[in-house]
Amino acid sequence: MTSTLRARAGELDAADPLAGFREEFLLDAAPGVSAYLDGNSLGRPLKRTLESVQTFLREEWGGRLIQGWTEGTDVTAGTDVTAGIAGTGGWMDWPTDLGDRIGRAALGAAPGQTVVADSTTVLFYKLVRAALAAARAQGRDEVVCDTDNFPTDRFVLEGIAAETGSTLRWVETDPAAGITPEQVAAALGPRTALATFSHVAYRSGHLADAAAITALAHEAGALVLWDLSHSVGSVDLALDAWGVDLAVGCTYKYLNGGPGAPAFAYLATRHQGDHPGALRQPVQGWMGHADPFAMGSGYQPDPSVRQLISGTPPVVAMVPVRAGVEQLERAGIGAVRAKSVQLTAFALELADELLAPHGVTVATPRDPARRGGHVTLRREDFREVNAALWSRGVVPDFRAPDGIRIGLAPLSTSFTEILDGILALQEIVEVAR
Ligand SMILES: *Cc1c(COP(=O)(O)O)cnc(C)c1O
Repeated sequence: MTSTLRARAGELDAADPLAGFREEFLLDAAPGVSAYLDGNSLGRPLKRTLESVQTFLREEWGGRLIQGWTEGTDVTAGTDVTAGIAGTGGWMDWPTDLGDRIGRAALGAAPGQTVVADSTTVLFYKLVRAALAAARAQGRDEVVCDTDNFPTDRFVLEGIAAETGSTLRWVETDPAAGITPEQVAAALGPRTALATFSHVAYRSGHLADAAAITALAHEAGALVLWDLSHSVGSVDLALDAWGVDLAVGCTYKYLNGGPGAPAFAYLATRHQGDHPGALRQPVQGWMGHADPFAMGSGYQPDPSVRQLISGTPPVVAMVPVRAGVEQLERAGIGAVRAKSVQLTAFALELADELLAPHGVTVATPRDPARRGGHVTLRREDFREVNAALWSRGVVPDFRAPDGIRIGLAPLSTSFTEILDGILALQEIVEVAR
């Protein structure tokens, strides 16, 4: 049976049009890891990222010094570091240039709506505060959110509610599924300012119907903010077409930007500017000022999406993100999503065949249209089982109380790698208990 499965995995790899992208990763840096199944939490580094960082340090930082902020540079033109970048202005333009590239490659967002800055947590804070401040003028002071959202989102919301006197309207979601349009419709009301959810649930991998939920929020007169951390670079997104107002997400998961890489925020064009309904974020720093180097008195927000920036952009940390986004541009998000669906389907098939007989259950939607890029399996002893897997070089992650997440990064994960990981899991679960 194992040999049949191995042949199938080999056939799937041979037929995979994205298989070549795997070779672009620094696989040999982790010789002890036979199956990396956590690219949804921290993507692998690309080989070219090593070169890009070194080139940047030597030629741009070392070579340009402070002039790098404002002067375009051609020292790396034609290399992967800057390939395809819209405009080659100085580092001051990187937050919006890279934002536009992420928008085009992954978000379905026209230019001028996305910036790279801060962490997801901090950008989430800024956007929620901006939305609440605008809605307060219309007597709206409630946020619709769900109990199974990623902790940082829930914690930030709790803090903002305490700080602003807003009310959080919690929707109880099924941890093995996720937020549905019906649940959102029932929670919206005339006082709803904002509805905010994760597009792909970090625990179950449930993919929310963002188009339907966004439309429902708008019918109720509310804004919507999507956390795309587990979506970007894995599932296709159409923020402009769906009419999304606000979004945030990580670049160190499927975009392979490296630990702590800066996040991105999306602010739809209609909410920008200096018209009365325009949104304004609360962390008013000099880099979001209309003219940062005027150094004058009084804050004047930049009318563009730059307003979302507060302080000096994390330029060095954007170098790996650029390499990751450049790879996604070449692969194409449509092909990435198609492979992602195949990877999760294969993992589910293996789980049914090899693990279900040993009491392992699936906590991820079976419908590929409602499933993101990872699969969550459950058994009561999975905390210990996960540790045993890590010691064998098979690396998924554990999420309390009893879930092992099998994260499948379409550009770096092979079908054979999934099989190796699930076979190791089978060996452990058939003797444990
Ligand atoms: C990973 C993740 C985050 C992480 O936020 P940081 O500020 O980068 O720590 C936030 N939200 C979701 C949904 C995530 O999956």
